[in-house]
Amino acid sequence: MLSYRHSFHAGNHADVLKHTVQSLIIESLKEKEKPFLYVDTHSGAGRYQLTGEHAEKTGEYLQGIARVWEQEDLPEELLPYMNIVRRMNEGGKLRYYPGSPLLAKYLLRDHDQLSLTELHPTDYPLLRAEFSRDHRTQISKGDGYQQLKAKLPPPSRRGLILMDPSYELKSDYEAVVKGVVEGYKRFATGTYAIWYPVVLRQQVKRMINQLEATGIRKILQIELAVRPDSDQRGMTASGMIVINPPWKLEAQMKKVMPWLHKSLVPEGTGHTLVEWIVPE
Ligand code: SAM
Repeated sequence: MLSYRHSFHAGNHADVLKHTVQSLIIESLKEKEKPFLYVDTHSGAGRYQLTGEHAEKTGEYLQGIARVWEQEDLPEELLPYMNIVRRMNEGGKLRYYPGSPLLAKYLLRDHDQLSLTELHPTDYPLLRAEFSRDHRTQISKGDGYQQLKAKLPPPSRRGLILMDPSYELKSDYEAVVKGVVEGYKRFATGTYAIWYPVVLRQQVKRMINQLEATGIRKILQIELAVRPDSDQRGMTASGMIVINPPWKLEAQMKKVMPWLHKSLVPEGTGHTLVEWIVPE
């Protein structure tokens, strides 16, 4: 039984980091005319209402996108992402937030393709409705990890695979590594972006050790912590592990992380990190 609903967390600091990285990877892929495939293994509903009951209940977006929304000195690295947030909130008040599939929908070109999977019985129809008239998109209700076997390699041999489980099941830490191995066997030149929460640091360390043991190279880690690690409940940090990142991503993230940290964590606690787990 799935109880996680992303609508409670949409637009939090982890989404801001994830969606910044996602949009920069997509913009780099667009530098070549050749089409590419965007695969989202854990898509969520696609669109979120920040003034809705779920988001208001936790208020997580207030320490996330709402803080970035207020800033006037946006670095250029944030523009592809923030232009879409602005487009969804044209009246000037922050009400709606794009999930990863919607960001991809607006950023991808007419000849690119999207493959989206969502398992939740409530979120799946919302996602499907959002894409009902999008000829580029295939949507499945099912297990996102299976898509790594079914959809790869893409005919264009270019693509981004976003793996963004909720880690509601502890088995997700191992499932993402297995999923990457399955995907990589079929499509070793693809870019794989894996989101992770830091709830217990040991779980993340174990996942990273397993990834290192696969022998895959070019693995970049990007992390933003809002508080120091803790063994109490709750997420203190989140990160993205990117396999085969576009060559610019490391420099872009090194430049933008201090700004993101200052905007998202004005109290100055936590840390940022952009580091190779395995270099080229
Ligand atoms: N990627 C989304 C975004 O950035 O807007 C958020 C995704 S949310 C963190 C994780 C989603 O995965 C939830 O909507 C959950 O219902 C879904 N889910 C959980 N297990 C899944 C599975 N095995 N396959 C596909 N979706 C799954």
